[in-house]
Amino acid sequence: MKKSKNIINANCLAQIIVLVAILFATIAASLLITKHGRETLGLQECTSQITVSNGDTLTKLLTEQGFSLQDIDTISKILKSEAGVSGLRANSDKIIFSRRADDAPVTKIVLIPGPWQQIELTCNEGQWIVKKIDIEKDERLIYKNGEIKDGDSFYIAGMRAGIPEGILIDVYDLLAFEMDFERDIRAGQNFSVLYEENYASGEKVANGRVVAISFQALRGEVKMYRFRKPDGSIGYYDEDGNGAIKSLKRTPINNARVSSSFSMHRLHPVLGFTRKHLGVDFRAGTGTPIPSAGGGRVVARGYNNGHGNFIRIRHNGSYETLYGHMSRFAKGVGVGTSVRQGQIIGYVGSTGLATGPHLHYEVIKNGMHVNPMTVKLPAIDNLSPSNKAKFIEIRKLIDSAITVLLKKPDLFVQL
Ligand SMILES: [Zn+2]
Repeated sequence: MKKSKNIINANCLAQIIVLVAILFATIAASLLITKHGRETLGLQECTSQITVSNGDTLTKLLTEQGFSLQDIDTISKILKSEAGVSGLRANSDKIIFSRRADDAPVTKIVLIPGPWQQIELTCNEGQWIVKKIDIEKDERLIYKNGEIKDGDSFYIAGMRAGIPEGILIDVYDLLAFEMDFERDIRAGQNFSVLYEENYASGEKVANGRVVAISFQALRGEVKMYRFRKPDGSIGYYDEDGNGAIKSLKRTPINNARVSSSFSMHRLHPVLGFTRKHLGVDFRAGTGTPIPSAGGGRVVARGYNNGHGNFIRIRHNGSYETLYGHMSRFAKGVGVGTSVRQGQIIGYVGSTGLATGPHLHYEVIKNGMHVNPMTVKLPAIDNLSPSNKAKFIEIRKLIDSAITVLLKKPDLFVQL
């Protein structure tokens, strides 16, 4: 049994040897043909492209390409003085080496630090010359829309719509104060995203930024547009040019006086002993409407001895606000209600432990009480009247791009 197996193996081996021999012969023949082709064409360049890896230095890479230490020194100096390049970035920079023939010295080096720039070094009669080449930016707008289906998260629906993951994460961040992605997602909600893709020489190199978002939220459609202000800073705005990145209002009732501030030790006016004051009190007459400090969802509505009639609203993953001593709640605002920023949720009163009518307002960040007057919140960025006019023009352009892409989704447009 063992013997016959050996015989079969020997036969197989013979066959393999023949096959390998044929393969080598073919490779050798094709190499000869290629070599011949190069020789007749003469000027055809041999190029090799590498991506800079961790630990790669210009000296190391140039040494591998056969450069002398003197040449490496010359090239390093010229790169620094004329192109401002003093080091290589691992996993980002690419380098192309070109030579006239396989065994000829390198006569051209192209350093590619990003999709829109190339630094070309050419050797001309022993002299290295540097040339910086700016590649025309090719930013294309891509439009994707989708619908939440039963049991979907926004992430799943977004991936199904073909929106790249990085873009989805940006959309999450932009909508963080508008939606609660755990609780406000319902089957049948539509959404769309317009975003950039960067191309160089016809090839996609990266996803760009989110340009516009539309989301049919529970409280109505949320729209956002990107706009670059004349000073170069970028922001996102609603259709009318108001800052779209929502935040919380430090003072829910406009122009209300602070009658008692946030403190970890305070003499309580009713209890008469020292007690923490985990919110800010705003003096206002009984019946003054109390607007929600931000968009969110009512998670508690009730009465307790300290706060009296109170409402607690969850705004996003990390913020909640509480409103106390209300005389009454607004109609239709109960646990589970989605509220907009500025929506009236109740009216000032003096229920609970209060000496007079006022709003007791608390901000809870990640479960901890924070001072509403000093906590770091995203700034609400409204445009000046002149920038608003410019924004409206851009918004119209974006809207018309969306109209085109809605009809022909396979198309891409450039703004
Ligand atoms: Zn208070």
